[in-house]
Amino acid sequence: MTASDYRKMIKQLINKPAKLQKFLKHNKPKDRKFGISTRKCRICGRLGGHIRKYGINLCRQCFRENALKLGFKKYR
Ligand SMILES: [Zn+2]
Repeated sequence: MTASDYRKMIKQLINKPAKLQKFLKHNKPKDRKFGISTRKCRICGRLGGHIRKYGINLCRQCFRENALKLGFKKYR
């Protein structure tokens, strides 16, 4: 449940407030202050292969696609 986005379920439950509260109580992932799951890719939301350097905050796949646009010359 932590890898996929639990907020997708909220769209379905928005018209059922009591069910929504119950869902959040039991299924919302723990609020974390540190660790892998606190850092998601800004574009695709992936957790693995994260590049944090220079405040890029992208996964390696999205970085590879966008490196030239970001101004990286060597990465082709
Ligand atoms: Zn990504």
